[in-house]
Amino acid sequence: MTNLLNALSVASRRPAILIVDDAPDNLGVLRSMMVRQGYQTFVATSGERAVDIAQRVKPDLILLDVVMPGIDGLEACRRLKAHPATARIPVIFMSARGETDDIVAGFDIGAADYIPKPLRMEEVCARVRAQLRLSNGTRTQREQADRLRMIVNSMDQGLLIVERSGRIQYANPACDRYLGHAPEQLVGRLLSDLLSLEDGADVPIGIEELGGHGTREVLIRQRDGGLRAMDLTMTPMHADDGLFVALLHDITHHKQSEDALQRAALLDPLTKIANRRHFDGFLEREWQRAMRNAQPLSLVVLDVDHFKLYNDTLGHAAGDACLQQVAQALAGHAARPTDLAARYGGEEFVLLFGETPLEHAARLAETIRAAIEALEVPNPRSPTSPWITVSVGVATIVPTQLDEIDNLFVCADRAMYAAKAAGRNRVETARVGTAWDAVKNAALH
Ligand code: GH3
Ligand code: MG
Ligand code: MG
Repeated sequence: MTNLLNALSVASRRPAILIVDDAPDNLGVLRSMMVRQGYQTFVATSGERAVDIAQRVKPDLILLDVVMPGIDGLEACRRLKAHPATARIPVIFMSARGETDDIVAGFDIGAADYIPKPLRMEEVCARVRAQLRLSNGTRTQREQADRLRMIVNSMDQGLLIVERSGRIQYANPACDRYLGHAPEQLVGRLLSDLLSLEDGADVPIGIEELGGHGTREVLIRQRDGGLRAMDLTMTPMHADDGLFVALLHDITHHKQSEDALQRAALLDPLTKIANRRHFDGFLEREWQRAMRNAQPLSLVVLDVDHFKLYNDTLGHAAGDACLQQVAQALAGHAARPTDLAARYGGEEFVLLFGETPLEHAARLAETIRAAIEALEVPNPRSPTSPWITVSVGVATIVPTQLDEIDNLFVCADRAMYAAKAAGRNRVETARVGTAWDAVKNAALH
């Protein structure tokens, strides 16, 4: 901030005064006085010369005699004010003609001050000082405004000035890039109109309803209908005028990496299929859905046969590659949106089939078992098969409020161990005894 203020402050330098008088004596006296005040001086003895020098040296102030041969001081002043390079230079007239008309004419064409002759040097110095102070202040303000405008115009963030009611008073050019609306089209509109609000409210929404002072994440509705995630920071400008500065900062990139991170958190790093965390969440949702619709939900548990032998024979790296192949084969069989294949841990995989009865799930499981064997990944020392094989357990439930997910898992695991016990490389099934069955059985006995 200090750097910004320093940069905005005008560097101090010795002011330059142009003194214009056709009487050389007057010129000499004024010049030595101005030099004594520490000013840099330029002199001219005619109106034409004065205009010429002013355009070249751009003095900070001009002391201008009114009555001169050729063009007089009033005409010289008119020309100075008509030229953009000299229009802003303060001009102080000096004249013996103290009549009101002269004074009025001088001010009318843009003079800053009027000093009557004969000159009292103290007064001249005081008036020069006062004018320099004034124009210095104006110039500083102008330069600050120019610099601020430059910053606001070139900044990457969208900047809006918004009334407490939410009405936009000003928008910088970056808003065009982010919102697809030119700044002039935004003025007068409501800030809330640009946002995609969750409740879809189309009543006018002011700054307080948008959360007031501070930063929040918003979805900006662009003119082409697209949505863009942005941080919106609102800061009150002054305590009393009810205006806010709203800054829009594009966070699409952060969002994308955030989404990527979230996706990564749900993937098994080795096989790139869903991990246990993803599967558990998915199962929970499908369980609830199956319960609402009274539909069967099938869980398939697979364990690679003699995988320790595989690792011991071919090495851990080959083991990893083998798990990747098995995973790919599984993922290819989880075709519907209600299906999911996941690596549940080690060399154990799971598949969920929504809206799938036991017989259908068992057929799918058999297809998968055969597909993995058909990969013909050699497992040279396996007593079961020359190839990598899996033992598969399938369990199905139509869940009710009384049932627990764990029970489905226990049954599928038991079926898988039954497949191991029965010689591996096979599918075993289990129909889960539901809590309702248990109640019925208890009533029968
Ligand atoms: P079974 O047929 O009874 O399932 O025999 P198994 O050898 O497959 O069973 P066990 O549970 O004794 O061995 C599993 C092996 O899987 C042991 C472990 O080193 C290996 N394993 C687990 N995770 C990984 C992994 O990420 N990469 C590799 N290469 N091996 C793994
Ligand atoms: Mg195992
Ligand atoms: Mg195993």
